[in-house]
Amino acid sequence: MASFSLHLSHTLGSFSLRPIKASSNGVPFSKPKSGGPTILELPLEKIRRPLMRTRANDPAKVKDLMESIQQIGLQEPIDVLEVDGVYYGFSGCHRFEAHQRLGLPTIRCKIRRGTKETLRIPSEEGSPIC
Ligand code: ADP
Repeated sequence: MASFSLHLSHTLGSFSLRPIKASSNGVPFSKPKSGGPTILELPLEKIRRPLMRTRANDPAKVKDLMESIQQIGLQEPIDVLEVDGVYYGFSGCHRFEAHQRLGLPTIRCKIRRGTKETLRIPSEEGSPIC
């Protein structure tokens, strides 16, 4: 899906149309700010979970999210920590499961860089989120 942003220049008195990338659900990617989080579509199988997850998903919440995501797309990316090129999800388990059940190959993620110390990972291997 193509989308365009309009850039007006007050100094030059001109404007131009510039295509920007859109994600699979039609929501544009945001540009990474230096040092800040990056918004990216990641394949579901690339996202692992950190250790602190203890409770199961609420099936009713997942069902509601599936319906909503189908209708209006994912409105809020899940939070992901990148440690040495490996992605760990630490929020958004219901959104993640809704994407899985809908058969969507990717999910929009807000990615921050971290270290093993921040995540407290005991080994290189992690299991998939949720
Ligand atoms: P999760 O475990 O994914 O965080 P919650 O039920 O706790 O699930 O919260 C749902 C979150 O999903 C909310 O933060 C809400 O803003 C977000 N969200 C993103 N896209 C949608 C959507 N299309 N419909 C409803 N909620 C959405």
